[in-house]
Amino acid sequence: MHFKKIEEFGNLEMAYVSDFSGGFISRNSHILKSLELNRFTQFILEKCVHGTPIFKLGTGGNKLLILSGIHGNELSPQLANVRLLNDLIGNEFNHTLYFIPFAAPKATMNNERTFNAMDLNRSAHIHDSVSNLIIQSVVELGINVVGDFHSTAYNSNPGRESVFSSKSPTPESYLIANYISRDVGSEIISFDYAGSSYKGAVEDVCNLKGIPAVTCEVLAPFGSVGAGNVEKSFSQMKSFLDYFGV
Ligand SMILES: [Zn+2]
Repeated sequence: MHFKKIEEFGNLEMAYVSDFSGGFISRNSHILKSLELNRFTQFILEKCVHGTPIFKLGTGGNKLLILSGIHGNELSPQLANVRLLNDLIGNEFNHTLYFIPFAAPKATMNNERTFNAMDLNRSAHIHDSVSNLIIQSVVELGINVVGDFHSTAYNSNPGRESVFSSKSPTPESYLIANYISRDVGSEIISFDYAGSSYKGAVEDVCNLKGIPAVTCEVLAPFGSVGAGNVEKSFSQMKSFLDYFGV
């Protein structure tokens, strides 16, 4: 992976995780309606045409990844991630922060849960799926904590604001989830062993590799943005960073 410094935006660096997942996100009218358009957000949208970009701020300390867009129609966390990155540009950090706001820009463009009919949160263990390429990047970059941010609608699973984690084999997953739960009031959902109920979730694949990970869910309609949804996802992301003293 080759990170390139983006002089226009201070100490921001970027690389691509995948070059076959790109899409024109601005074609998603729900995203366009809620995204504050400025030079930086337009820059991100341009980069997403060519694949899945990963952005980097800071050096040293823990290497943390804030991931969203694993499900393309879960818009609130993707918007929150862009907002977070936009807010943090130009700051100094004692940790290394990685951001993937749009895991599969094509799926986000189409406002679809799946990417090429593949559920990326059931295929992170399948070689060279987009979510597997994200895992490969996590390993290559030595990222040591992953926060995967989603949204869930009423009458879907889990259908409530929550933080998923597991206690084994990577107990810090549970500790991080517990912190976020107490901090922002999201319900904690914890499994005794990662990946025991289904296979291929990004969070579980990370935890099974000994890389602590959590999945944060906000309650929001699929394919659109409701009042307060982006702000709630944003507060989960801030809490995740707060756990590490960022
Ligand atoms: Zn999801």
